[in-house]
Amino acid sequence: MSYDTECVFCRIIEKKIPSAIIYEDPYVISFLDINPRFKGHALVVPKVHVSTLDQLSDEATAHLFVVVKHIAKNLVENLGAAGYNITINNGRVAGQVVPHLHVHIIPRYEDKRQGVGFEAVFPVDEEAKTTLNDIAEKVKLTREIKPIFKDKEKEEQKGNEEKEKAENSEKSSKASSLPYESEYFNDDGTPKFK
Ligand code: 5GP
Ligand code: ZN
Repeated sequence: MSYDTECVFCRIIEKKIPSAIIYEDPYVISFLDINPRFKGHALVVPKVHVSTLDQLSDEATAHLFVVVKHIAKNLVENLGAAGYNITINNGRVAGQVVPHLHVHIIPRYEDKRQGVGFEAVFPVDEEAKTTLNDIAEKVKLTREIKPIFKDKEKEEQKGNEEKEKAENSEKSSKASSLPYESEYFNDDGTPKFK
C-alpha cells in the first residue's frame, strides 16, 4: 500500500496514531469518528491513499461499499439506531477536510433531530430545478458499465444454453447414425428392451 506520511488517515492505518477501530481487512479499515455527529458515527477508509471516490478502482470501490453495508447494519443492530446517513465529502468545496477518501456512516435515532436530512444542509437550488433536462443531456453516461461480479443468472443461463447445445449436437450426431425410427434402438442409440 502507498501511504502518505502527512495524512492522518494513513497514519491511523499504519497504527502510528490510535483510533477506535471497529473493522479491518487488507483493503479497508473502519474506526469511529473522533468528533461523532451522532453516537456510533463511523468512518470507512480504503487503505490506498486516494482523495476522492473517482480515483478508486472499481474493485476497491465495490469492496468498500460492501464493507460499508455490513458496518451500517451492525451499527444499527447494536446501538438501537432507527436509520443512518451515508456520506462522502469529495473535495474541499464539498466540505472534505481530510484528503483521504472516507465514507461516513452516521447512525440516526428517533429521539435526536429526527427527520433532519438533506434539506438542512442543502436547500433546493431553484435555478438548477428549472434546467433538469439540459443537465441530464450533459451528464448522461452512454456506455454500459459492466458489473465486476459474475451475474449468476446469466452464467446459469449461458451454462444451460451450452449444455442444451451439447445435448442437441450429441442427439443429432446419434440421430444421424440412426436416421430412422428403429424398432430395436432408441434415438440415443440405447437398445429398446421389451
Ligand atoms: P471530512 O470533512 O473530511 O469528510 O471528515 C473528516 C472527519 O474525520 C471528521 O468528521 C473528523 O471528525 C474526523 N477526523 C479527523 N481527524 C481524525 C482523527 O485523528 N481520528 C479520528 N478518529 N477521526 C478524525
Ligand atoms: Zn492517506
